[in-house]
Order: sequence, then C-alpha cells, then structure tokens
Amino acid sequence: MGKAIGIDLGTTNSCAAIVENGKPRLITYKGGTTTIPSMFAISEKGERLVGHDAKRQAQLNPQNTVAAAKRLIGRNFHSKTIEKIRQVFTYELVEGESNEVLVKVKDQVFTLEQISAAILRKIKDVAEESLGAEVDQAVITVPAYFNDRQRQAVRTAGRLANLKVLRVLNEPTAAALAYGLGKNLNQRIAVYDLGGGTFDISIIDIKGRIFEVIATGGDTFLGGVDFDDRVMQWVLEQFYKEHAIDLSFDRVAVQRVRDASEAAKIELSGATVTRIHIPFIAKNEANAPLDIDIEFTREKLEQLTQDLVDRTIQNTERILRESGSAKTQIDEVLLVGGQSRMPLVQRRVTDFMGKPPCKGVHPDEAVGIGAAIMSHSLAGTTSDDVTLLDVLPMPIGINKVDGTMHVLFPKNQPLPDYKTRTLTTSKDNQRSIMLRIYQGESQLCAENEMLGTFVFSGIRSAPKGKVQIEVTFHIDSEGILNLTARDKATGQTVESTLKLGKGGGAEPVSAAPAKSEPVERAPPPLPFTMPTSTLAQQIGGPAPVNGGGTPAVPRHDPERTTPGQLPGVRPVDAKPTDAAAPDLKVAGPYAKAGTPPAGAAQPGLWGKVSGWFKGLFGG
Ligand code: AMP
Repeated sequence: MGKAIGIDLGTTNSCAAIVENGKPRLITYKGGTTTIPSMFAISEKGERLVGHDAKRQAQLNPQNTVAAAKRLIGRNFHSKTIEKIRQVFTYELVEGESNEVLVKVKDQVFTLEQISAAILRKIKDVAEESLGAEVDQAVITVPAYFNDRQRQAVRTAGRLANLKVLRVLNEPTAAALAYGLGKNLNQRIAVYDLGGGTFDISIIDIKGRIFEVIATGGDTFLGGVDFDDRVMQWVLEQFYKEHAIDLSFDRVAVQRVRDASEAAKIELSGATVTRIHIPFIAKNEANAPLDIDIEFTREKLEQLTQDLVDRTIQNTERILRESGSAKTQIDEVLLVGGQSRMPLVQRRVTDFMGKPPCKGVHPDEAVGIGAAIMSHSLAGTTSDDVTLLDVLPMPIGINKVDGTMHVLFPKNQPLPDYKTRTLTTSKDNQRSIMLRIYQGESQLCAENEMLGTFVFSGIRSAPKGKVQIEVTFHIDSEGILNLTARDKATGQTVESTLKLGKGGGAEPVSAAPAKSEPVERAPPPLPFTMPTSTLAQQIGGPAPVNGGGTPAVPRHDPERTTPGQLPGVRPVDAKPTDAAAPDLKVAGPYAKAGTPPAGAAQPGLWGKVSGWFKGLFGG
C-alpha cells in the first residue's frame, strides 16, 4: 500500500502535504519549492509540459498553455461564466458532446478532467520522488462553493491520475482542521478564503475533534486572477494612451502584461510603490522597440480592486446572517489563500469583523496541511478520530413547468441527506418521464447550473396517473448527488439515464428496457466520520429508510451530536424538511406518451444509473 497525501489543487498553484511521525508538513520538491503552478502546455515541439515547465514557456506560447483550468472544470459550455471566461482566456475552449467545456491545445482536445489529472499526476510524481515511496491515495480539496458537477469532475481527475480519492474536502474545512485539530477548542470561527480563482467563506464550529460547518458560501469567479486582470487592463490602457497601440489583440504581449501585473500586485502587499517594467513589448511606426515602464502604487491597486474586496465582504455578511451568528459570536477569523495577503483585504476584514485575523494559520499552507491530516486519518494510519459535518453550498432542485426551481435540498442543508418524490404520468401509456436537476441560488432554473437530465424509461403501460414512480435523491457527505427510482406499485427499479444538457435544449432520450430487479433497500450512507469512533456508533446505527424525507436521525441532531449543543447553533429540524411538499405530476414537454423515444440509450458523461445509492456519476 502506498502513501496517502493531501492535495490542495489550486487555480494558480497546487501543493501537497503529508503527515509523518504524527506531524503534517508540506512536501518540498527539487529546489526547495512547495508549490507547483497549476498549468499544462504543449510546446512548439509537441512535448507535454506540466507545472513549472509549462509556466516557463507560457509567455511565448500562451495559446497552447492552459492556466486556471479549475475555473472551467465541471461547467456547462453555455453557462454565463464560460461566456465571460472565453473573452479573457488565451487558449481555446470548445464544446463537448454533452455540453461540457473542453480545451484545445495544439489541435488536441482535452477534457478538464484530463488537464487536472495531468497536474495531479505531476504532484503525485514529485511527491513520490521527494518521499522515496509510492503515493496512491489522496484527499483533494475543492472550494466549498463548488457544485456537484465540479466535485465529481475533481474525483474523476484523481482517478485518471491513478490516485484513490479518499475524499473531496472543502478548502475552508481543511484550513479549519489545520488550525484547530489537537487544540481542544470550543470555538466558532470564520474562514475567509481568497485564492487564485475562487472566494469561499465558511462559518465553522470546532468542538474538540468535531468540525461542524454551519453555513458556507462564496463565488467561484472571484480570486487573485481577477485582481491581476484589473491591473492588466489598467496597464494596457496606459500604454494605449501613450502610444495609441492596442496590445489586447497580441496574446504574447497580454501574457507578459498579465505576469508583470501579478508580480506588481504581490510586491505591493509589502511595498507602497513599485514599477511595472516590460521591455520590448511592441514597436512604433518607425520600427523602434517600445517598453512599458510605469509607476504603480498600492493606492492605485486598491482603487482598481476595491469593488472585488467589497464583494467578498458582502458575501461574508450574507453567510454570517445565514449562520445566525452575530459578529461578536465569531471567536477567530482565519484568512486563507494567497490573495488574502493583500493589505486592503486584511484591513477590510478587520474593520468588518471588528477584530484582526488570526495569526495562527499560514494562508498558503493551511489547506494542504488540513488535507494531509484528513488523508492520514482516512487512510487508517491513525487511531485519532475526527468528525466532519458539512453542509450543501447551494440549493439542489428540479424544474417546474413554469421554469422555476422546486428546491429539494436548501442551501446549508446538513449532509448527508435524502428526499423522495413521486412522479406520475400525465398521459395514457406514457413510457418515460424526464426530470432536469439544477443547482444554484436563483429561483429560475435557467439561471442555475444544470446538473443533468434524467430520463426514467421503460415505464409500464397504464392509464395516466396510474403509475407512480418514487424517485429518491440522495446527497452524500461530499455534496455529491445520487439518484434512484422505483415503481411504487410493483417495487421494480426504473431504469434511468443521465445526460448533461443545455438547459432547455434538445431532449435527452433513452430506449433502454425497463429493469425488473427487486428494490434493494440499502440504507443511505451515514454521516462522514473517521475512523474509529464513528457517528454511526454515537447515534446507534444506520438510519432506516422511512419512505420519504430525511433519514430518521439527521446528522446535526442536537440531541445526538455534540456540535448541536454548542451555544448559538441554529435549531435543527429533526423531521423531514419537506414532508408537506407536493408530489410532482410531470406534464407538458416533460411527459412523453407512447413508446420509448427513439434513439439509443446515452450513458452520458458520467455513466448509467441504477441501484440504490450507487455512485450515480461513475463514483
Ligand atoms: P492560492 O490559490 O491560494 O495559491 O492563491 C494564489 C493567488 O494569491 C494568486 O492570485 C497570487 O497572485 C495571489 N498572491 C500570492 N501572494 C500574494 C501576496 N503577497 N499579495 C497579494 N496576492 C498574493
């Protein structure tokens, strides 16, 4: 058995850590560095480059260098986010068969999972070299605000890199572990995580070895690269004003300005003034070389990026409200992520929270260290147990005929959880039913991310309304959705297929015959805990399937688990949270009468689905 490591898979940089002799530490690579640029490239000679090698040639080969791939992973090509990204990225994005985003590098097309796998494989290789041992298991961190598809994509990337993914762990939770484990704390903390590409804010209760997330939120499109963009735009403007030359169409020049902008931004965290000097960026009409050489002050940087910091504070305010906490109830504020080093960020957080941030965590290392602690425990190499209780970052729901979302699982829903819904046919002899599943905070499905379209097919012929399909939606402790369906009258499982879609686009179809397996009444998995003293033991064994609603004993039940006894924890509803919600009659465009629709069964990106709580997305 190889070693288990923790991996902080960042937008700009990634790092790995390990626990050895009871102590976590970052893994250092040749030359003493601890981070690897999260970059992939194909050189002019057709060589595949990852990490530092990719970064070194990025300025000269920007169209074949993939950076910030984490911003693309698990996203729909037609989402607004991708539209925005396509305007600023230097490499080409193309649409996959299932509307996923693919990248084109030197005429070769890669999935984002493949790109992330290349980075993970590099981390694995250098870790093995550094440790002198095989590494085959990892905990990989993700932003807390990642949705189901993004989490699943990271799991897939891990598998492609030949790593057994022990868990996909939220970055703020990892930072909380690094900060609080082994200190016997009884605190409510806020983790403000501003990294290269994403912002997360989480309110977490720490009680001894129990870490309970109370509320989480963020923005997967707000991070250091946005600060760099602001500086870059300003520099390009200054150059245009001076020379009437627009550099924004020159990919190589843009990449050089971007790099210099980031370097200046970082320098201004220590200094109050710097120079941005880029020699030979263009030529004038007389063919003479032109440089960029401008003074750049911290004051100007703050003016250019103030609104980005404001957005993080607004998010923080909202999540505090959702957690039901007053600022005075927050014992410590942890700043994590490289961009949180900016003095403006530190000032604004201090002013808003009414106290300076905690000095006890390293902003660049905390996430990797927390991941290592977690992987060490999950790999069974320690008898120390830690309990993590997490929440769902964004609501998950299904489409209603009027285009609004029927929320099945609300934001901040303690995990794991499950819900059942009954679908009925609306036409005589209807043989299939389609359901679209969305995740996001808007009431309108079109504004949320579509997780997939499920087609329940091979339904027995019967007059309308006479067949009732009971669908169970289950979210595991990592926030990943699983789904199963059965005919209520016969108990037979109903075949379902998943396909990603354009949200309102072509209807996915399945001609797969009905399966006639008896329903396997396996209970939903228990709350995540590790490894010896499990919550399952605390609450007395698996929760029974009770035909609807949440498990009989919800994970955050104040009567059963210690975290619920902390002062100020929001009340936990031990009853099914949606018992009164109506069953759904699927009608209109979603009802398909007659024989199963034409077309072969499409397993979709994540494979075919059947069986109780089987990993739906190939998990
Ligand atoms: P992370 O994803 O946590 O590695 O954060 C990387 C981001 O932090 C990048 O956008 C960096 O430019 C930014 N960053 C790193 N160090 C500093 C610093 N001292 N001041 C401001 N931003 C920084």
